[in-house]
Amino acid sequence: MTKMRERINILDILIDKVDTKLALARIIDFIESNANKLVVTPNSEMIIAAQSDRRLKRIINTSDLAVPDGAGVVLASKLLGDPIPERVAGIDLVKELFKVAQQANYSFYFLGAAPNVAKKAKKQVLKHYPNLEINVHHGYLTRVLEEQVINDIIKRSPDIILVGMGVPLQEKWLDKYLSKFESVVGMGVGGSFDILAGTKDRAPTWMQNHSLEWLYRLLQEPQRIQRTIKLPQFIQQVLLQKYKN
Ligand code: UDP
Repeated sequence: MTKMRERINILDILIDKVDTKLALARIIDFIESNANKLVVTPNSEMIIAAQSDRRLKRIINTSDLAVPDGAGVVLASKLLGDPIPERVAGIDLVKELFKVAQQANYSFYFLGAAPNVAKKAKKQVLKHYPNLEINVHHGYLTRVLEEQVINDIIKRSPDIILVGMGVPLQEKWLDKYLSKFESVVGMGVGGSFDILAGTKDRAPTWMQNHSLEWLYRLLQEPQRIQRTIKLPQFIQQVLLQKYKN
């Protein structure tokens, strides 16, 4: 077992104080525990969204692991005097998980992204990890498709379901349906399938290291501006939390 859970409160959202290694160890414990577990990957946008979305807030705060996905979250933890060791990007965690899964024979279900993207993501992952068992379904679900997907997941009985349908859809989907499955770790992974498929690029390492990944994403997808402008709002609210305490 990994050590006791330590969490930090950022704007009433509880985030686990973990680095990538500890987060990975926790997920492996979850898989071995044969119980259903939920992993979420909050960044500053998601924390802001959860301020006015009680269901999302409840889902994050009752999840089994909430990793600090984003430079904003790490900065907030420092401002609050309770620093998180490092940023744990969902995509990095997923890649580490593939390595372990290849050895341990853990199986995956990828749910999310456009039809060709989900399939392409599987193909790319198999190039690096040919022994992995991966089933996929795109993330544009009608009611009928949703029922089919649920039955397919029950039939395949994966160890890990990665849901990449964007926040908060993916978290709400997992919250609603996880209990239909058995012994599975569900994790929200946002746009990770697009990155794995190669349809969207990840920011260069120097930008990641300088906390500029948000800028790269904004340049790639200018329509994200509505989301990016929430960053200063996030820091402002964190400072208010700091001086209120
Ligand atoms: N998506 C989906 N179903 C939907 C809406 C979106 O599968 O109904 C996918 C979309 O194709 C993309 C991902 O969800 O692959 C959202 O990516 P984004 O980078 O916006 O994720 P976030 O920033 O919310 O983590």
